[in-house]
Amino acid sequence: VTPDDVDSSEVFSRLPVTSRKELFEQSPRFLGVGPDQIVETVMTAGTTGKPFPFVFTRSDIDRIAFSQALSLYGAGLTVNDRVLLLVSLDRFSLDGMALYRGAGMMGVNVMRMGCGSAQSATLQRYLQFFRPTVLIAAPSVLRNVATELGRAGVDTAKSNVAKLIATSEALRSRDMELSAPAKTIETLWGARAFSMYSSTELAVTYGECGARCGAHSHPELVYTEIVDENGDPVADGEAGELVATPLGVEGVPLLRYRTGDITFKVPGTCSCGRNSCRIGPILGRVGQNLHTARQFSYRGVDIVPQQLTRALDAIGDVRDYVIIIEKDERGADTVLIHAAVPPAALEKISSAIREATGVHIQTLVSNEPTIRALRGGVTTKLPIIDKRTTPVAATAG
Ligand SMILES: [Zn+2]
Repeated sequence: VTPDDVDSSEVFSRLPVTSRKELFEQSPRFLGVGPDQIVETVMTAGTTGKPFPFVFTRSDIDRIAFSQALSLYGAGLTVNDRVLLLVSLDRFSLDGMALYRGAGMMGVNVMRMGCGSAQSATLQRYLQFFRPTVLIAAPSVLRNVATELGRAGVDTAKSNVAKLIATSEALRSRDMELSAPAKTIETLWGARAFSMYSSTELAVTYGECGARCGAHSHPELVYTEIVDENGDPVADGEAGELVATPLGVEGVPLLRYRTGDITFKVPGTCSCGRNSCRIGPILGRVGQNLHTARQFSYRGVDIVPQQLTRALDAIGDVRDYVIIIEKDERGADTVLIHAAVPPAALEKISSAIREATGVHIQTLVSNEPTIRALRGGVTTKLPIIDKRTTPVAATAG
């Protein structure tokens, strides 16, 4: 394939995909410029594997800022807004720096708080002096800050904050309804929450508009596809892996990069009037296997997901299963097993799980089609769907 062959977007689906593994193992071969052109080195987010260094040119950094500015503008921010940025600005991460530059490009007043823990007295001062109208942070940070302030007697619902831009964790479920933790942060702050998806390797963001039904892509900056296991595009509304080709990148140009994130294109057009495609919440990760599955705490016991998969794999009657780990509205880990088994095998599962973990974990008798639907329609046998994603701070440090 030569550049001349690429004369329409349909050609994309005929090009090979680029995996994270290829990028990781042969990163020098992906460089599009000489070392003198590189102005920034960050580490990729480590949610689907080992983090590795990633570089940008001056123009790439401007491009990222532009992408962030478009997303913030899409969420309805204006130059009169005051943004309190509660995202890590250091620790080699891209997000905080990109958001800061994007807000600057838009011309809003931004205050960098970062995401280290702050005393409620300090937080209270920020709220009183700066009177932020927008908070940008991971949902778990938004909840923790509000809880901390609540303990100090501050009613965050009565603050000036009108918008919450949520990074790094999904706010919605497969049916696009707000999740319980998302509803909690909206209530705590008396504000509307907007999802933002970003990827270091793509160096773009997808952001929700005022209609809040999917995160808009910025088609001048990225070509977006959702593909099945074979790399073939799936229909709008069907879940698959997000594969994207960032446009106009100098430092590390990528073709059809497999993000590992499972989502879907929201069908139809958005009521806001933008025609760009929208992606739904991240439902899981293709690379989310036993090596990356994170420990969770349930009824006071720390459990490694492998304890559950090992127990389930050992039971012959189990045809398929999925373990769903998420946070409830109080921020505690919850776990539920859906297993394709004859009802009579349920007792066997219960005792195997209790033996492996010491606690009882609820198991529902299910079937293969339901389990596939729970995986967002993905045919890969993902044993675990972890709906708690690591906040940026925790990833970096
Ligand atoms: Zn829209």
